[in-house]
Amino acid sequence: MEECIFCKIASGEIKGLRIYENNETLAFMDIAKDVDGHILVIPKKHYKNILDCDSETLSAVMNTIKRVSNHLTENCGYDGINLLNANDESAGQSVNHFHIHIIPRKSNDGIDAWPKFEGAKEELQTVFDKVKM
Ligand code: AMP
Ligand code: ZN
Repeated sequence: MEECIFCKIASGEIKGLRIYENNETLAFMDIAKDVDGHILVIPKKHYKNILDCDSETLSAVMNTIKRVSNHLTENCGYDGINLLNANDESAGQSVNHFHIHIIPRKSNDGIDAWPKFEGAKEELQTVFDKVKM
């Protein structure tokens, strides 16, 4: 994808702070500076999000997430991680190249990484009947 910023970071056309990479995936620093250690993991090949990503690539992304997460908790002084991910504009995705956010956590760091939901509008059974597979 010619105009995709994350494709350009993956190819090296645009500089990124590259933490780890292999043939299929790249982990690099998010520039938001909203929380210490905010990292993004992407497939090097362009997919919009998890909905169009093939399972082999998805597996590679998850393996890289695990590798980076283990590094953060074993070597960098973090205790845990949150994974955040938006798929489609309707879900809040702003960059249209599949990415999963890693937010490293320390006990009592005061970060609230969980969305504040306003309460379900439909009955649990109604939604269950709609979504069960
Ligand atoms: P999302 O809203 O889930 O699509 O997240 C997009 C993320 O990409 C945001 O956290 C941005 O800070 C991050 N981002 C955008 N441009 C860059 C860039 N050039 N390098 C690193 N991170 C970026
Ligand atoms: Zn891309």
